[in-house]
Amino acid sequence: MRTALDPGMVMERVLDNLAPGLTPEHRPELGPCAQWTGTVNDAGYAILWIAKRKLFVARWVYEHANGPLLPGLEPDHLCHDPDYCTPGPNCPHRRCVELAHLEAVTRRENTIRSGAPTGVNARKEWCTGQWGPHDLSIPGNVYVRPSRPEERECEPCRVARREENIRAQRAAARQAVKSAGGYGRQMSLIADD
Ligand SMILES: [Zn+2]
Ligand SMILES: [Zn+2]
Ligand SMILES: [Zn+2]
Repeated sequence: MRTALDPGMVMERVLDNLAPGLTPEHRPELGPCAQWTGTVNDAGYAILWIAKRKLFVARWVYEHANGPLLPGLEPDHLCHDPDYCTPGPNCPHRRCVELAHLEAVTRRENTIRSGAPTGVNARKEWCTGQWGPHDLSIPGNVYVRPSRPEERECEPCRVARREENIRAQRAAARQAVKSAGGYGRQMSLIADD
């Protein structure tokens, strides 16, 4: 079993990496975020390497105050609202470690709140995504990935997203070819749309 980290030492490191954040405009009653200025992971969440261990800082802050999270629970950011925030890892709330902004929820609840496609689909019968609206009560509009049978995705959005990715890849390839001198056709980098 690994020895427990000294909480005082961790807290010191946490405080070293904090800056005052903004108060979320959509939830002013929460007060300001505590903005993590240290390392974040690919998803944009605050992490801290300490004694060769990687801590998820929001979780550590929550557990330091409330005791260990029960299995199956994880901290959710109350300051984050998918209807208001920009999607993706750059939303500043992901790096917020303000204790008052953290609430323990199940993973499923967290996904639903997160605005991820799964969550969007679970909380409404209508997809209101970028390419929507799509009626998810029509079976053909619902796609279930074989590897994730518990999740539903909006099929028209999935197709549209794939097409957009292909277009973006072609555009990037064309751009790369342009700057490399125009050998794209030979390299099959340019396809007709
Ligand atoms: Zn916050
Ligand atoms: Zn946010
Ligand atoms: Zn859709």
